[in-house]
Amino acid sequence: MGGTVEPAVGLAAPRAAHRLRVAARRITADCEFLLADATRRRSKLARDAIAGALVAAHELRAVVERIADAPGEAPGPGDGGAPDTLRDAQQRIVRSMTRILASVPTSLEDELLLADARAIRDQALRLHAGAADSAADGPAPAASGNGAGTAATAAGLETVRSPRPSVPTVAEPARARILVVDDSDAPRRMLKQLVGRLGHDVTEASGGHAAFGIATQEAIDLVISDIEMPEGDGFELLQRLKADERTRDVPVIMVSGLDDTASVVRCIEAGADDHIPKPFDAVLLRARLRSSLEQKRLRDRELAYLRRVAGLTAAALAVEDAAYEPGSLDTIAAHDDELGRLARVFDRLVLGFRAREAQLERRLDDLKREVRRTGAHQPQQVGEMDATTQIMHRVLAERYEVIEELGRGGMGRVYRARDRELGEEVAVKVVRHEVMRDDPALVDRLRTESRLARRITHRNVVRVFDVGEHEGTYFLTMELVRGITIESLLESRGRLGVTSTLAIATQLADALAVAHEQDVIHRDVKPANLLVDDEGVLKVMDFGLARLAERGRRLTQQGIVVGTPRYMAPEQLLDGDIDARTDLYAMGVVLYECLTGVLPFDAPSPVAMVARMVDGPPTPVVTLAPEVSAPLAALVGQLLAYDPAARPASAREVADRLRSVG
Ligand code: ADP
Ligand code: MG
Repeated sequence: MGGTVEPAVGLAAPRAAHRLRVAARRITADCEFLLADATRRRSKLARDAIAGALVAAHELRAVVERIADAPGEAPGPGDGGAPDTLRDAQQRIVRSMTRILASVPTSLEDELLLADARAIRDQALRLHAGAADSAADGPAPAASGNGAGTAATAAGLETVRSPRPSVPTVAEPARARILVVDDSDAPRRMLKQLVGRLGHDVTEASGGHAAFGIATQEAIDLVISDIEMPEGDGFELLQRLKADERTRDVPVIMVSGLDDTASVVRCIEAGADDHIPKPFDAVLLRARLRSSLEQKRLRDRELAYLRRVAGLTAAALAVEDAAYEPGSLDTIAAHDDELGRLARVFDRLVLGFRAREAQLERRLDDLKREVRRTGAHQPQQVGEMDATTQIMHRVLAERYEVIEELGRGGMGRVYRARDRELGEEVAVKVVRHEVMRDDPALVDRLRTESRLARRITHRNVVRVFDVGEHEGTYFLTMELVRGITIESLLESRGRLGVTSTLAIATQLADALAVAHEQDVIHRDVKPANLLVDDEGVLKVMDFGLARLAERGRRLTQQGIVVGTPRYMAPEQLLDGDIDARTDLYAMGVVLYECLTGVLPFDAPSPVAMVARMVDGPPTPVVTLAPEVSAPLAALVGQLLAYDPAARPASAREVADRLRSVG
């Protein structure tokens, strides 16, 4: 057939292969579309012709893909093999379309079909000539002269200019509602038909004003509008649509006269998504619609995603303000994607956090009641006169005004004092002279240890401030806790209820977990080192201080008493390896005592204590306090295990387990 043109020579092979591939894909897609559309048509002739073209198009694609895979063999003229098959497929497509073009249109539908067929034929023709033709708008190569031109003239259509390449790989968008705006009936009807054939719903408007009203009231997915209209022109409509919040994101395609480049540019600049020239080319229109709807779909998806991100951010802020309502992320959480998962995890975290807070609050309430019944804060009054009692009412290091004695311990006495510099009250622990005399290096260690203790910042740990000296007397300043020690609490109440014990236990476990994570072991967890303030907040004192006294000293030696053997783990009593689990054992003793009112083991000397421990486990908690739940009793029992390996692995684990025991 004379219509075919020899393949381009001199074109870089990969480029030629690429163009061929794009063109082949387009032809296949267009034939498929035409066939799907034609099944509703009566003309068997047209259907057969299209089906034939589709088969050829598939062959064409296969050849083109093969050529593209082996770019070395770019199509060459008449040398057999691939190029021949390619030419054969191309000719069959051209012939099929020409057969359709030879028919005489009797309806608008026929006219549309002819326009589509012509576009496909032109594409097929350009497969060779056009592959080399970089000017896509160049005149279509002349067909063999039989019928095509005549049909076009008969159809009253102008020669269709070659369409621009469509977006080749977008999926067919779902059914959309499209608003078609044109003041003259004929083009509007034609557009309506065309769009309807593409499977979309159409709403019509005959002017810009009416169109704007519809676009703001109805859910319109896309607007196709003529430019020149008496009642509100297309340009004005476009501006109004883009200025209105409700319609800003609706894509607009402008219909322009063929040579009206100026107004096309003006529309694109005003926010139009695309334009199509009049008269309409169905294939081109389909491509334009497809790409605009696809872009809108992507934009909608992006906006929806951003809205969900904003929802999550707002939820995080609400948590900070304690205004988060659990479940308010349900719509975001319902999505089965990463954001959805994040929302679900977030909600669950907040819920868990809330539950734990409520649980702690309940436990604290009970503890507060216990504290109140005891009559909190009972400072011991000064007893016999000794070196440190002379400190009363004096100012230490020209800074700390000693006000009253709070208690006595192994290292010395503790006073309430006013820090003149900061204008605040603090606790001052004054080290006894004998302690200093026996261990002159203690001061340095005291400094080191206080520095260590300062590393732990936690609401359940008494803050340590400084080491000071006053006329040869050394002292340690720390946060003043207005409250009562668990020791005093036990003395006056005998034992504590389960809820109060749990309030102590959770807070103690939290404090130990934080300290252990900083590699600080307490070494002297005991009721006298656990203060509860008026709010039921537990404050652990003397972190690491026990180690100071331990060094170079034996338990049996005179002088200071290091820790209390009754709360010490067997490995500590035996001078063995001490680690975080040593503190867990001591915690077990404290909890056992809180729940039962008695110690798990008691003996007059450390050696006798160890002997008891070796003998076997203590009397089970539930035997002495039947109201204690089995899991809590088991946890206490495990904390008291002789072998450190049999105890819970960490304070963190204990803290976690305590949240689920009642
Ligand atoms: P121990 O050597 O037995 O641990 P301490 O010398 O640490 O004793 O403390 C003795 C007592 O002083 C405590 O039992 C407590 O009543 C009181 N105390 C210690 N530190 C503080 C503080 N920071 N705030 C309030 N009271 C405290
Ligand atoms: Mg202490």
